[in-house]
Amino acid sequence: MSNYPHLLAPLDLGFTTLKNRVLMGSMHTGLEETQDWNRVAEFYAARARGGVGLMVTGGMAPNSAGGVFPGASGLFTDQDIANQKIVTDRVHEAGGKIAMQILHAGRYAYSPDCVAPSALKSPISPFPPKELDAAGIEEQIADMVTAAVRAQQAGYDGVEVMGSEGYFLNQFLVTHTNKRTDDWGGSYENRMRLPVEVVRRVREAVGPDFIVIYRLSMIDLVPSGSTWEEVVTLAKAIEAAGATILNTGIGWHEARIPTIATSVPRRAFTWVTKKLMGEVSIPVITSNRINTPQVAEDVLADGCADMVSMARPFLADPDFVAKAAAGQASRIAPCIACNQACLDHTFSGKLSSCLVNPQACHETVLVVEKADILKTVAVVGAGPAGLSAALTAAARGHAVTIFDKADVLGGQLNMAKQVPGKEEFWGLVDYYVTAVADAGITLRLGEAPTVATLSDFNEIIIATGVAPRDPAIPGQDGENVLSYIDVLRRKAPVGRRVAIIGAGGIGFDVAEFLVTESSTTEDLQAWLEEWGVADPADHRAGLRPEGPQPDKPAREVTMLQRKAQKLGKNLGKTTGWIHRATLQMKDVKMIGGVNYERIDADGLHISYGEARENPTLIAADTVVLCAGQVPERSLADALIAAGRAPHVIGGADVAAELDAKRAIDQGTRLAAEL
Ligand code: NAP
Ligand code: SF4
Repeated sequence: MSNYPHLLAPLDLGFTTLKNRVLMGSMHTGLEETQDWNRVAEFYAARARGGVGLMVTGGMAPNSAGGVFPGASGLFTDQDIANQKIVTDRVHEAGGKIAMQILHAGRYAYSPDCVAPSALKSPISPFPPKELDAAGIEEQIADMVTAAVRAQQAGYDGVEVMGSEGYFLNQFLVTHTNKRTDDWGGSYENRMRLPVEVVRRVREAVGPDFIVIYRLSMIDLVPSGSTWEEVVTLAKAIEAAGATILNTGIGWHEARIPTIATSVPRRAFTWVTKKLMGEVSIPVITSNRINTPQVAEDVLADGCADMVSMARPFLADPDFVAKAAAGQASRIAPCIACNQACLDHTFSGKLSSCLVNPQACHETVLVVEKADILKTVAVVGAGPAGLSAALTAAARGHAVTIFDKADVLGGQLNMAKQVPGKEEFWGLVDYYVTAVADAGITLRLGEAPTVATLSDFNEIIIATGVAPRDPAIPGQDGENVLSYIDVLRRKAPVGRRVAIIGAGGIGFDVAEFLVTESSTTEDLQAWLEEWGVADPADHRAGLRPEGPQPDKPAREVTMLQRKAQKLGKNLGKTTGWIHRATLQMKDVKMIGGVNYERIDADGLHISYGEARENPTLIAADTVVLCAGQVPERSLADALIAAGRAPHVIGGADVAAELDAKRAIDQGTRLAAEL
């Protein structure tokens, strides 16, 4: 019997059967906007070949007003239908099933033409929406129904009507955004009329043998959001209107509670979906922060849902289901929920990919094939850049040897995994250890190779990473001064009052490490309290009236930077606010626009501005240097001096703005060409 009997069990929908309980949830990748339909098709076909039971596309606009941004994809013309038929045909050939998501963004549309139940601007969009009149609402319904009919013509197995995350249909449901006094506002019966009507008319138009998923917001996490009673009322009405499956949405996009970031505990919201089980008779899907087959299996075994939705894990590894079914879960490239190459890209208007899998959404353009000429390849440095280069080179048939002066694989990933809220990095390092062993790569750990050691290799890849930048502050050699490496590797004790010099990604990581007694990421109850999440049956929308209740900070921390701008401005687009909010909850002081004058036994002496005014002492027992990094290139330089031409990647190449995403991408791309 399989290790995952619940997860791999088929799901009979009456007119069709899904081969397992795994849904690839909707993700906006930006692929459709490339108009390269072969590329789009290959993205989905790869996941279909990997065994997922059902996939949902990124959101398709039903009309121009409802598009997430101007020019968003949708099925507007016969050509659009023909293009998407390429995708559905390829998925079906691969043995998969696919539903198209109909996404009307309402006031979240990034467009001056956006429409909504009431003319209330959202806090996350610059555009105030126009209030729809009754005829306008009818038009939106008709367009959503037309989108469903066209999806059927394009060969989709179904549609998902997006009713959660604070989009258009969700906006009608709650008084937070719906101030209408006509048939579409006021009582809950009136407010839920639109989503129910959309599902009813979609079902009428597509007939009985077509999957209609409704994505229902089960916990809005915004003021005046739905009560649990309203959620159940809506779920029953949506079932009666003809939906085949209910999917779970968690939190509006404007909610100030993280719902999918890496610091959110795994399966943090499956208890909410579980409350709906037994209230409806159609299958219910749960979602959010489910990223391993075992977690997914446990969710189903615990009766939280009939099916599990995972989205980003299918960017990280298209073969997630096939590997689980083959008993090879440790070989699944894990989604670490970082958002760095997926959602951060989407919200920057860039094509999505995946930090751990740069081939995601690049299936047809970043191809790893067997090499024509097999070579011996030395990779120096076992951090993300070196590991990805080594694995890609080995996949191509080259004989690869990894050197690292440390005696473990992972490089700086081993520091990242120490940071509270970044526990997913443990799994990533474990994955690399398994993958390197599988690939038959020779390991020479605990060894710093010289030019002579490397002389016999055909190709040399230098991924020696970075060294901390010397900020040259008088007094930095004092005993009370530590580098981030000393802190994150727990090499030295840290005092109660701490000043952190530098507020980049590492400064923030160090601050979180120092103020956190015990990480809430692996303690769901503590995390829910920390962020003020309640049972929606007790408190409307799942918001505790007393708000967030974080633990007391373990230390008094002050973070500083020289730039006179908001600290953390350049952190991840979709996650920076979480880091800032976490530290604010822990009373971390953030000071910009400073000069570092000196460090002494009293702490850090600073001044402000070009005129070095207002000398101030930041009283501190420990000062931690997080002042950025410089490339570690000594071996590369020695090789070049000896007449070799090493390939230099990752931080050893460019330290500025280095992150694991760039390192892995560069390592993979280099080795794909060797
Ligand atoms: P960083 O982001 O470049 O930040 C360096 C910090 O040091 C800045 O605050 C900078 O601010 C300060 N600094 C630079 N030169 C200095 C000098 N000479 N003296 C004093 N301060 C100086 O570098 P990092 O924090 O080391 O992070 C490295 C990379 O790892 C980053 O690019 C980041 O993307 C990545 N990372 C990301 C995350 C994440 O959460 N996504 C987490 C960890 C690391 P001022 O110049 O204004 O003083
Ligand atoms: Fe997951 Fe990060 Fe990849 Fe996005 S970029 S799919 S969050 S690992």
